[in-house]
Amino acid sequence: MEASYTWHPGAHCITPRWPLTPSIFPDELFSSWLVRTAHAHGCEPRTLTSVVWPGTHAWAFDLDRLHPWANNEVLAAMTGLRVQDLLASTLLPIIRLLHPNPVVLRSSQLPWILPLGCRNRSHAGGLLCCPVCIMDPQPYFRQQYRLAWHTACPRHRALLIDRCPCCYSALQPGRIAAEHPLSNCHHCGCSLGSSSSEAAIESALAFQTFVDTASHSTAAYGGVSLSFSEWMSIARVMISFLKKATRHPTVTALRFCKAIGVDTSQLKSSSLGLPFEYATPAERAGLLGQAWVIMQAGPERFMELAADAELPVTAFPLPALGVPEIFKQMATAFSQHPPHKRGRSGPSHTRAPLEVWHMWNRLQRRMRRHDIS
Ligand SMILES: [Zn+2]
Ligand SMILES: [Zn+2]
Repeated sequence: MEASYTWHPGAHCITPRWPLTPSIFPDELFSSWLVRTAHAHGCEPRTLTSVVWPGTHAWAFDLDRLHPWANNEVLAAMTGLRVQDLLASTLLPIIRLLHPNPVVLRSSQLPWILPLGCRNRSHAGGLLCCPVCIMDPQPYFRQQYRLAWHTACPRHRALLIDRCPCCYSALQPGRIAAEHPLSNCHHCGCSLGSSSSEAAIESALAFQTFVDTASHSTAAYGGVSLSFSEWMSIARVMISFLKKATRHPTVTALRFCKAIGVDTSQLKSSSLGLPFEYATPAERAGLLGQAWVIMQAGPERFMELAADAELPVTAFPLPALGVPEIFKQMATAFSQHPPHKRGRSGPSHTRAPLEVWHMWNRLQRRMRRHDIS
């Protein structure tokens, strides 16, 4: 069993006006604590939030991000917690580390943050849990369960889950009735720990551990020291490359992957082009593990192999904002000419029934998250 990184130490309440307010556990997510606070007082979470923030439909929003109507001073006064302790349990501190540019912060969809896909009180996904940790006597959801580079529990080396193992509903603790524990599915009541856990992918766990540790300092990329956000920005570009190479495996991309040591058999194709943050934990783990292989090679080796493979500049989809300077230098190794059409080995035009069925499921998932573009 391995200790996991601690994002915040938790907080105790002092003389709360709501007498049964629980402390915030270490690493606990703000919304998880809100649900436990409501349940401790025998009410539904939406009843509690309608008292704190009257006239709002709080659970139709991602409560772990900041909203102008969510006055935390009112909540702090009711619960005996300090505003800074409440904010420390939201995603805000981690989002600021990932995206120092305030323009990016206003976006509803942020790289590396799992989107909930809110529609009224219903969420399409975006929250994970460890199927073993959730069976602890006092179950709760942790901040890292909303971070896209987290796919495994370091304590149990188990793959995280984002669905109920029985009815496949997205995890929505805000909809669990007050008399049930947070370890139950809100929809069917099944225990989230009722199925055997899948083993973590070691290379994805290595990526996760490295990033957690680097989040409050600098991160080494080969012989270069980068800021955390720069390192994450480059890693996200590598993931976009791997996704693209999986969907459209060109000769040049496969040549580059083989040369740098990427095991393409670990990559699962998401043929509708779902963004990385919407993929299942297993799909993300496959991508993260192989992105870790590319990141470990460092910028010099990357440029050498990209030039050898004649990778086109179009192989690497870049973010609209905040491309790190070092990546602009690395991009000089790319071929400026698109690959010859005849060199492609794209997917077959006829698809197996099972593949079509998976595509249909992914399409439904995508439609529910308002992301058709
Ligand atoms: Zn665990
Ligand atoms: Zn269920």
